[in-house]
Amino acid sequence: DLQGKRAIVTGSTSGIGLGIAEALAGAGARLVLNSFTDRAEDHDLASDMAKRFGIEARYISADLSIGEEARNLVHQAGGCDILVNNAGIQHVAPIESFPPAAWDRIIAINLSSAFHTTAAALPGMRASGWGRVVNIASAHGLTASPYKSAYVAAKHGVVGLTKTTGLETAGQGITCNAICPGYVLTPLVEAQIPDQMQVHHMDRETVIREVLLERQPSKQFATTEQLGGTLLWLCSDYAAQVTGTTISVDGGWTAL
Ligand code: NAD
Repeated sequence: DLQGKRAIVTGSTSGIGLGIAEALAGAGARLVLNSFTDRAEDHDLASDMAKRFGIEARYISADLSIGEEARNLVHQAGGCDILVNNAGIQHVAPIESFPPAAWDRIIAINLSSAFHTTAAALPGMRASGWGRVVNIASAHGLTASPYKSAYVAAKHGVVGLTKTTGLETAGQGITCNAICPGYVLTPLVEAQIPDQMQVHHMDRETVIREVLLERQPSKQFATTEQLGGTLLWLCSDYAAQVTGTTISVDGGWTAL
């Protein structure tokens, strides 16, 4: 039961972030949703969720490719008890032709934003003596794939940041962990399917089975509900001594 706890979920207008926000709302947390846009539908998403779950929810726009905006998100929210660093993007290309601007953007959004939000959130968590920082890393935080240099580097970086945050907050009622999902069928993954169909001359189903889920031994996608459940467990007292570590939800990928 997270009644009264204040949660921020970055990048929560779609996919995993949205699923995690719904899990937190279902447990009674007060929510701040976020993305980089500032449209009526973003704010409607928060008010719909507030009605649906009978909680307080609001949307704060912040472009997490900019460090100051990441810090401001936490300040504008008035701090938080639960910080979920989820926002992330992908770009796939060989190192030699990987656009430097795409590298910088991925490192900024997928890695540096978590540093900035964590720095802004920790003082409040220390003052109240309770906090949960959960970083959504990836199986690519523990292992690599070709053509995903920036993503793999950023996600390994997130795992390193998670360990350091765990050490700096140990024994203070605060934990920091990374969830490492395998493939989840979200818009981020959906967007990779047409390219892969072309590159491999395969239909959609074959790309899903033989390319996307090639390294996921279960041959099943993880779901946003399962990731929400993992997050709720990390927020519970059962996980009070789980810190500075990674939890894989990857159908066996990293056991290979
Ligand atoms: P998604 O594209 O569905 O959602 C990403 C969210 O981040 C969106 O809400 C988007 O608006 C937001 N976002 C993007 N750029 C932003 C910016 N500059 N500032 C603020 N918000 C921004 O993706 P997803 O699949 O749900 O991925 C969420 C996280 O999970 C990412 O960190 C991703 O790397 C990670 N992940 C995804 C998978 C998967 O298979 N889908 C697997 C492992 C890890």
